[in-house]
This record gives sequence, C-alpha cells and structure tokens, in this order.
Amino acid sequence: MTTGSRHQVAHRVAIIGAGFSGLCMAIQLKRDGVRDFVVFDKGSDVGGVWRDNVYPGCGCDVPSHLYSYSFARYSGWTRAYPKQEEILDYLHRCVRRWKLGPHLHLDTEIVSAQWEAQEGLWRLRDASGSEYTARVLVCGVGQLNRPRHPSVPGREAFEGAAFHSARWDPAWPPEAFAGRDVAVIGTGPSAVQFVPEIASHARRLYVFQRSANWVIPKYDYAFGTAARWAFRRVPGLRLAMRGFMYTVVGEALLYSAIAGSALGRGVQRFSTRHMHKQIPDDAELRAKLTPDFPIGCKRILISDDWYPALARDNVEVVTEPVTEVTSSGVRTADGRERDAAVLIYGTGFRATEFLAPIDIVGRGGARLHDRWREGASAYLGMAVPEFPNMFLLYGPTTNLGHNSVVYMIESQVRYIMRWLRAARGGHVEVAEEALAEYDATMRRLLARTAWEGGCTSWYKTAGGRVINNWPLRSFRYRMATNRPRARDFLAP
Ligand code: NAP
Repeated sequence: MTTGSRHQVAHRVAIIGAGFSGLCMAIQLKRDGVRDFVVFDKGSDVGGVWRDNVYPGCGCDVPSHLYSYSFARYSGWTRAYPKQEEILDYLHRCVRRWKLGPHLHLDTEIVSAQWEAQEGLWRLRDASGSEYTARVLVCGVGQLNRPRHPSVPGREAFEGAAFHSARWDPAWPPEAFAGRDVAVIGTGPSAVQFVPEIASHARRLYVFQRSANWVIPKYDYAFGTAARWAFRRVPGLRLAMRGFMYTVVGEALLYSAIAGSALGRGVQRFSTRHMHKQIPDDAELRAKLTPDFPIGCKRILISDDWYPALARDNVEVVTEPVTEVTSSGVRTADGRERDAAVLIYGTGFRATEFLAPIDIVGRGGARLHDRWREGASAYLGMAVPEFPNMFLLYGPTTNLGHNSVVYMIESQVRYIMRWLRAARGGHVEVAEEALAEYDATMRRLLARTAWEGGCTSWYKTAGGRVINNWPLRSFRYRMATNRPRARDFLAP
C-alpha cells in the first residue's frame, strides 16, 4: 500500500466500489492470476446497494437465478425473487470463495483521483488524506448510491421521525409503525416494496404519488426443498432457469415494452388487467393509479402486493402535489395538511450525477465533472478520452430496464480484462472520435425508445436527455463489447 509516499510501487489495479461491479472485477482479476489489486469502499461491508438498502421488503425484481454472476451460479436461493439479505449473503460467499478479503479496503472513501502522466499512474486520495497509487483505475460506484430528497421547503422542520428508503432507520421495523400515522413520498420501485410491509401496521398511511406507474405481477414464490435439491443436483437446471428468464421474460417480453412494439402494448394491457384484478371495486383509485404515459417510459414495477396495500381502508393515495413539509406532516397544493408521526422519502437517487463525489483529474488537468457538465458519457459506458487507464463499470448508457444489470457488468469486466491483457502494461485511452460516434449512435437509438416519451424518470438529466440506459437488447451490448477495437483507442 502506498500510503503517504510517492516512491512506493503502484498497485496494478485499484477498484473503487465493492458492490456487484467492483467485486466482479476483483474476482476476474483473481481468476486471471492478478494478485496486485485493491478494492476501496466507503462502507464497512461489501454489497453496495444491497448493503445500503435495508428497508422492509427490500429485494430484487430480477429473478434470483438471473441476478447472480454467470460464473458463480447458486443453488441456495430460497425464492424466485431474492430478498436483500440473500443477495448480500451471496456476495459474501463470493468474497470468501475467491478470498478477496485481503484486497478489500473498507471504510475508505476515495475523494479524488489524479492521473500522473510522468509516472503513468493514478494517485488516489481518501477522505483521511492517505494516498494510494495504481496503474489502472476501475470505478464501480454504481448509479443509485446517493439518495435524493424532494426539493420542497420545510424538511428540517418536521418533528417526527424522517428518513430516506436507502437510509432506513433500524429503529423502524414494520411492527414499530403500529398505531402511527405515516407519510410516504414517492411511488417508485423502492416504495412499491416497503409500503406493503408497513401498510397493515400503520394507523393511517398517506402515499404521496406524483406519477402513477405501470405494474405487472411478480408471481414470487418460495422454492421448496425439492426445488432446491433439483437446482443442486439436476445438471443444467439452474442454467435453463436463468436462460428462460433472460431470454423469454427479459429480452423478449420486457424489452418489447421499452421498444414500444405491439407486444409491449400487450404488456400494458396485462398491467391494466392486473390492476383491475387486484382493485376490482374502486374505480376512483384505479383512475389515480393509471399512468398518463405509455408503458416502459419509466421502469415497469413488478409487484404482487402493491395494489392490495393501496386499496386498504387505512391507506390514502394522495395525488395533489406536495408543496411543503411542515413540523407535523405534509402539505399539498390544495392547502391541505396531513399529519404524520413518521415521514419516509421513497424519492430515489441522484442517478445522473455519475461519480459525483469523486474529483477525477485526467491528462492535462482535464476534470471529469467539467467534461460531464451537460451529462455523463463514456465510450461503451466504460472509457472517457483524456482519462487514460481508467474504466467505469455500470457507467452511462449501461443501465437496463428489462433485464439483469449483472449481465451488463460481466460484459464490461470481460472487455476490460481483454484490454488489460492486450495493453500489456501500456496506457489505454479512448479516442474522442470513437466516443463522439458512440454518443451519436446512442442518441439515435435512445430516441426510438419508450424512455424518451412523456414522463419524468431518473434516467434523464435536468435537460431531459436519457443518459443512463442501454437502448438495445442486452445481448447486443455483449456483442458490442466482445473485443476491444484497437482503432477506437489512441496508440500507446
Ligand atoms: P425512483 O424510481 O427514482 O422513484 C422515486 C419516486 O419518488 C418517484 O415516484 C418520484 O415521482 C417520487 N418523487 C420524487 N420527488 C418527488 C416529489 N418532490 N414529490 C413527490 N414525489 C416525488 O426511486 P426508487 O424507487 O428508489 O428506485 C430507484 C431505482 O432503484 C429503480 O428504478 C431501480 O433501478 C432501483 N431499484 C431496483 C429494485 C429492484 O427490485 N431491482 C428495487 C428498488 C430500487 P416521479 O415518478 O413523478 O418522478
């Protein structure tokens, strides 16, 4: 470790982030025989979003057998859709299996990274001022790690308990809501998971909805002992399950909604039927919950218990815009105030501000944040001109709305590994022309997707441009990242 000194040997690779991305990179380095790498994380455990999000009901709406590394398929999943604890446990297993412990530098928040051209290395500084150096920098900090609060006045004035879904106060398990009035702002994928958990406990639950969402059923179920035995023993079963979910559900069905095809409109009708089935006798509530934009524009929500929770007598869906948080509750545009003892923000993340807290300075003093002022962009979501030997994982244009992001991360890690092998210790820097061409292609393809339709979403910058998502089926990304094209990079 090169703490506080300019003269020690640099690590070969420094990875920032110990979530799915960073761990995938670390494992592949290890599998490739590279021993000299470090993984930094500001948290005191690995897991990224699966460490941070501990709200009741937290889980993944991608099926268990798909939401895992292809090289570490797992028989132990207890449900069709994994809960947060199981995913975190899975990642811990991976850390143990590949003996990553000695490489982890937890509780270490990297605040800056500077390219030192003469030495050909990255100099990293953490929040305590310690320095580290590495030949290659891989940033795997995720897109959904910095909570966003609504920009309404009065948040500090609230006198009850208040917290964001991604910073859930452990003093508030579902039972603690018994007999209390609760306000929830936001109706995205996080709220859809925690609201049903607390709805039956709260005395009154006010759900403040700015936009309705399209929701399809999850059909979640527990795997019995026979199923788990079969996953362990029957050759090819896990792979078949994974392949079915990836191809039929993800690439065919869900992608059709994003592409706005006829099949996608069928998914929208399916969603409407789901709502009618679960809320058969309240047309007013159904009207509130019917989106005014086509399916796919926002992330499609997948839930069996969201509508039944909202249809409860003690739950009110409030569609008047929130204008203020007061000392005792939430005020809406019609002037009405609803009192609550607990206020929960399910208001998402600052997702378009990629790598925002880290000051990254590349060749010639170029600052990543200056470059990205109008929105982040990276070649294949991974490489940025003027930032040699730096790669991003789960960067711009690599989020999906229809399939497992772990598949995208694996594609990226495979690509980076191929570059590292080909570069043989030399510098890797993508050319401006290659990024310009990639950006133009992405804009053209994104313009055809449902995301560009008339809705707000965290995929869009303040200027309304979608920068987070990959616009094609995910296997097309795997093809695009199959082999690094030498002509897209500057000669070393
Ligand atoms: P989100 O999708 O960004 O949703 C935030 C919610 O807060 C939206 O309903 C938004 O309304 C609302 N909101 C924001 N500001 C508001 C305001 N001032 N007044 C009223 N409402 C306001 O955030 P999220 O639910 O945390 O999910 C973020 C992402 O995390 C997801 O898209 C997904 O990628 C990931 N996630 C995944 C899973 C999974 O199962 N895989 C689970 C949870 C989260 P508008 O819709 O009008 O903007």
